[in-house]
Amino acid sequence: MQSFVLHNFRARWQAAEYRNCQANFPSGTIVSAIDFSENYTFKVQNEVQTLHWVQKQVTLLVLITSRHRTYDPDIVNATDIENRDIIQDYHFYFSDDNTHDTLMVQHYLDLHWKWMAENGIRFNKHIMWSDGCAAQFKACRPFYFVSRYYHTYGVPLMWCFHASGHGKDKGWYPHDGLGGGLKTALAQEQLKGIDGHKLDCAADCVAFLSEKFRLHREKLYGGINEVRRFFWEVKVGDVNRSKRYDCLPIEGTRKLHCFHGFSRLNSTLLNVREMCCFCPSCIDEDWENCNNLEYTGPWTLHNVHPRKPADVVDYVDAIGHGQGIPDQSDEGTIADLVEVGDFFAVEAEWPNDYSVEFWILQCTKPLHVLADTTTDAYGETHEEGSSVLEGMWYQQFGKSPTCFIQYPSAPVSVVAAGQVIHVRFALQPTGVLKGNPSFKLSKDTLEGILDSLQRYYVQRIYNY
Ligand SMILES: [Zn+2]
Repeated sequence: MQSFVLHNFRARWQAAEYRNCQANFPSGTIVSAIDFSENYTFKVQNEVQTLHWVQKQVTLLVLITSRHRTYDPDIVNATDIENRDIIQDYHFYFSDDNTHDTLMVQHYLDLHWKWMAENGIRFNKHIMWSDGCAAQFKACRPFYFVSRYYHTYGVPLMWCFHASGHGKDKGWYPHDGLGGGLKTALAQEQLKGIDGHKLDCAADCVAFLSEKFRLHREKLYGGINEVRRFFWEVKVGDVNRSKRYDCLPIEGTRKLHCFHGFSRLNSTLLNVREMCCFCPSCIDEDWENCNNLEYTGPWTLHNVHPRKPADVVDYVDAIGHGQGIPDQSDEGTIADLVEVGDFFAVEAEWPNDYSVEFWILQCTKPLHVLADTTTDAYGETHEEGSSVLEGMWYQQFGKSPTCFIQYPSAPVSVVAAGQVIHVRFALQPTGVLKGNPSFKLSKDTLEGILDSLQRYYVQRIYNY
């Protein structure tokens, strides 16, 4: 009962935020809603009844996108109702490929992005809504797509999941109705027999429907908007399934409904939270002042961990080898350069159990001043008023000094800002070692860190 009530709350919350999102998204943002419609089964016509019985189907994916007619991310009050001039595009993707998997979805979204680029449609943020179907949308491989999107397409992607998933629950989605209307048109055409269009594959559907349905004006999301329909045929074999982008599962995703691929440089980073919110602060990405923090929960950093080197998207070149502490000690700390998701190196006090000179952490909370004296899960105590960062710990592994692993369940460390020696470098995923995500530091980065460590010691000697 308890979980039913909770589920009900989540479903209603997400449905309300979907409406908020549609009503308030600013210029420059694209809001999409995506869903598979039920497959259409071709009626077998008289002349083929004597042949083998073949029940042939086409798959149909419906993608609805909304955007402001004017691209101007600087418009103040872009959310004023009078200023909203919204264009909606309906994309219908037909295919004889009957595999509804995440790679098919990724292929469609790739086509969609290329179409926007070719048509000069500019945007600086993409918000996607779907149900929580694990095979297609809500699982580790789709999440990896979300975290790669910024890196691949140059725009951050936030994927929002409805908590309701089944059948009539989907009242807020027009997809079934839209797909259903098209299928009725197909069925009616087929009833005409040889007097109608030939309809027995995806290409036929696209040719027939493109002719029949052109520009439409429809009432949707409470307003009359210009709606354009586009019909696409995706041929069998078009979906590239050779690279699967396999990765480790992310735990606890059932209760998470908002996934933000926020890093352009690191294609494995995700910020996640329980519920979506499109209050004025969240629209401005001023997350700390969200009106609904108690319902949405805080953003938490997650890493997608590719299983094999072949699943990794290379990003080391884009980041470079990092930045060390400056020569002059009075130039202050480099800790304030560290953002959530960044890797940074800190001096390791001697002696330590691992006989290492430095630790590598990934920032989960940037530089801040402690309001109270705090002891972290490893027993490190930091006094009230001291400047610290929080991060997940990466451990050097095996004989190679450039090989690291992460224990995803290890608690975060709190470290003093003054111990930070090197920032803004890449730790490239390499797959999985003994069940744990593994990483590689480039040789240049390792040298950079050791140089920084040297300067750190020199400065400390002078300061004492
Ligand atoms: Zn909010």
